[in-house]
Amino acid sequence: MPKYIFVCGGVMSGVGKGIATASIAKILSWYGYKVTCIKIDPYVNVDAGTMNPLEHGEVFVLKDGTECDQDMGHYERFLNQELTKVNYMTTGSVYLSLIQKERSLFFDGKCVEVVPHVPLEVIEKINRAQKLTQAEIVITEIGGTVGEYQNLLFLEAVRILKLKNPKDVLLVLVSYLPYQGEGMELKTKPTQYAIRTLNSAGLQPDFVLARALFPLDEVRREKISFNCGISKDNIISAPDEKVVYKIPLNFEKEKMGIKILKALNLKPKKKKTNDFLRWQKEIIKIENLKQEIKIGIVGKYFKTGNFVLADAYISVIEAIKHASWSLGYQPKIDWLNSEEYEKDKSKLEELKNYNGIIIPGGFGSRGVEGKILAIKYCRENKIPLLGLCYGLQLMVVEFARNVCGLKDAHTTEVNPKTKYPVIDILEEQKKLLKEKLYGGTMRLGDWECEIKKGTIAWKAYKTTKVLERHRHRYEVNTKYHKILQKNGFIFSSTSQNDLLVEIGELPQNIHPFFLGTQFHPELKSRFLHPHPLFIEFIKKSAENKT
Ligand code: GLN
Repeated sequence: MPKYIFVCGGVMSGVGKGIATASIAKILSWYGYKVTCIKIDPYVNVDAGTMNPLEHGEVFVLKDGTECDQDMGHYERFLNQELTKVNYMTTGSVYLSLIQKERSLFFDGKCVEVVPHVPLEVIEKINRAQKLTQAEIVITEIGGTVGEYQNLLFLEAVRILKLKNPKDVLLVLVSYLPYQGEGMELKTKPTQYAIRTLNSAGLQPDFVLARALFPLDEVRREKISFNCGISKDNIISAPDEKVVYKIPLNFEKEKMGIKILKALNLKPKKKKTNDFLRWQKEIIKIENLKQEIKIGIVGKYFKTGNFVLADAYISVIEAIKHASWSLGYQPKIDWLNSEEYEKDKSKLEELKNYNGIIIPGGFGSRGVEGKILAIKYCRENKIPLLGLCYGLQLMVVEFARNVCGLKDAHTTEVNPKTKYPVIDILEEQKKLLKEKLYGGTMRLGDWECEIKKGTIAWKAYKTTKVLERHRHRYEVNTKYHKILQKNGFIFSSTSQNDLLVEIGELPQNIHPFFLGTQFHPELKSRFLHPHPLFIEFIKKSAENKT
């Protein structure tokens, strides 16, 4: 009988449920168990692909092309596993499959009701993921916080599953303890309310992860335990941590792995693995890294009210960290607003203060001219530059305008009437957009890319065929391949018989690192397994003294 752990959140969202879920899964894998993680998002969208970054933050893409939540990225980065669509569900996808079943007479003329049929469909999806992955323990994170109306049906699924298999299901509440400053204490009351809310849904948490600025002290632990009827042992301190990969080690200090196994009636299958020791060693190394490397990400700001969203490019940030750490550098990452360069070109000079610059993926026209100015500056001043997806496309636009002499060349995404459409929409995309088929229809997920020998890409990968994850509708226009190449742009990776450019770069004797990818290498970078292109980029950045 497989075991199930559910992770839900109390008090407020954004306190690290995803990292907590990934950490619990990681610890259990260290004890020899085969694990998998599932993310449930309570919104009605079928997937995250149609939402804008202001609404959703980064859209993570799985190898099978599923567009999903950034927590899936945390799971992959911690577990070093490739997940698929079975590991992700939303209210929308649950209803969609239920309605499809009903339409095909699966229910034999019965009335299909919100309860129990929706929670039962949730349970079936979890079981399907378990069967497909053969996981012995499935760890499922329920997005949002308890008490939100849209969470209720998922909590009901937990209740039903727990009722049927009380010894095989655990519920972990990740809750936040606010702190108001000098002389104040960590407050437990909001957590107590969150537990009451769970109680009213027929659930009592087995573990509470107390997220806070500081470690939890005995008095607060006692308070939660006494008022909510949870053993003190099962209240785990989870203070803020700069390096998120340290969090499983912190949980282990509180013996969380053994406690969870015991609660599930399991024993460790083996002593903690080599992976654990490597992990531990790496954290100690990272905490002692002195040499800084400064990387600037040139993009547009995502503002909501007075706040700027930080997590729109979380995978890029993590990929920079993985590669920098592995090479012995402490990365310092700054977000540079490309719109500022449009207003005042002299601001471009700040790019000289960075060892390397990244132009991340993106959509639409805001900030694009500023990014193109930054690319020109990096090309002319030989600052290492890595372009990701839109980044590559804008590198091609810049090169076409300023080196090939194609004045006002552009991507048709921004200027459909440009005289030189060096970036144009993929042929198969035109029809889809005409029919308003936007959801899940970009060129998505893993596609095979051929790597040409003697290039920077080859130096990084050391192999001729790689699988990389994509998410785009536009491409380098085949009509301009020749003129770009004639002027010195190298297509170091292509796919579909040279039709699609996957990586473009400048020769190493012209520029130390001027390379862009049509795919998103950041989606395949993991802790302890950095992506080869990021390694090469950081190496060259380190050589560029500021
Ligand atoms: N907007 C571009 C396209 O659709 C790039 C997408 C991206 O950066 N992910 O092709």
